Amino acid sequence: MTALRETVATACRVLAREGLVSGILGHVSARTDDDELLIRCRGPQERGLRRSDPDEVWRVSTDARPVDLPDGFALPKEVHIHTALMRRRPEVGAVVHAHPPAALLYGLAGERVRPVIGAYNIPALRLALGGVPVYPRSVLISRPELGEELAEAMGSRDVCVMRGHGIAVTGETVEQAVVRAINLDVLLDLTVKLVALGVTPDAVPPTDLAELPDLGSAFNDQLVWRSLVAEVEAEDRVGLVS
Ligand SMILES: [Zn+2]
Repeated sequence: MTALRETVATACRVLAREGLVSGILGHVSARTDDDELLIRCRGPQERGLRRSDPDEVWRVSTDARPVDLPDGFALPKEVHIHTALMRRRPEVGAVVHAHPPAALLYGLAGERVRPVIGAYNIPALRLALGGVPVYPRSVLISRPELGEELAEAMGSRDVCVMRGHGIAVTGETVEQAVVRAINLDVLLDLTVKLVALGVTPDAVPPTDLAELPDLGSAFNDQLVWRSLVAEVEAEDRVGLVS
């Protein structure tokens, strides 16, 4: 469990470095068994997601009750995003909740993703082909019923835009959920920029789609994850983040 705590904290640092979360908003969780998960909490030494530490990652039951939370620490108010998805979907091993600016613009613009990029980012293309559901309410997911409502809107998809708020992303592993969240951000950012430019490119034709390999493997996610962690650690080493 120590290693998984470390991974959850590292995921928060990666998401902050990549601009998907800023300040103290956003969280990552990882399932430990059928009834429990680990989640990034807020503690007395809170310094923001970029400076997340394994000592800020604590156990919570899938019905959102703290298991071992020390005095001075608090579960995220939106823990229900994580617990609802994990209760409903046994295949989900990790959840990312972030507030990327592109997701905010995307939801407010009422746009829909389209499969217009190819080899530039194949996982983002696959997300576009599958569609990105939008949870239409802008509320804080602070109650179990709201978590259920979000999970319902998300259905069986691994990604969801929460209008006026952010994103929820699932994965079998923390690494997969983080890499998927970053690819979703690429897709949403591209979509809102195309709208701003006033252009509507043609979709990638089926003949080109047929040429693109499926990079959605756990192996590929691990490669990307390792490069993201290396960037964070390099910054930390030279003291850009203390
Ligand atoms: Zn939020």
